[in-house]
Amino acid sequence: MIKIAINSDICTGCRVCELTCAFIHTRSFTPENSRIHVEKDEFNGKDIPYVCIQCEEKYCIENCPTGALEIDIQTGAIKVDEESCIGCGVCVRVCPYNGARVHKKNKKVLICDLCNGDPECVKKCPVGALSLEQI
Ligand code: SF4
Ligand code: SF4
Repeated sequence: MIKIAINSDICTGCRVCELTCAFIHTRSFTPENSRIHVEKDEFNGKDIPYVCIQCEEKYCIENCPTGALEIDIQTGAIKVDEESCIGCGVCVRVCPYNGARVHKKNKKVLICDLCNGDPECVKKCPVGALSLEQI
């Protein structure tokens, strides 16, 4: 199993990762459709990418009131059943890693699916701020 490791010290905030993810999943370059997101830490002058890190605790799965989340046994990523997701945002609030977001328009949760085990954002980051780690 793999996870995406983030080195925010070298992230330039270019957001190529967001655009890549949005394009791969929705054929649009709309950052709101991305499962990875970059936040600006104005105080420290840093850009910090956030994405699901396949943590051990899996608070999102445990707390989802509709059972919309489960582990993909092939990749270890969190799988979202969009039919069951009601967009309540509980999974977003309980994630200590800022790894999930509810899409503003369709109210379905966005969580990294690891692109079936070969994450495109990792390949496209121009400075190597994203990498793969075995877990
Ligand atoms: S593509 Fe890489 S450098 Fe650009 S914002 Fe994403 S993580 Fe940072
Ligand atoms: S937003 Fe969707 S996946 Fe997240 S806790 Fe609510 S119903 Fe479950």
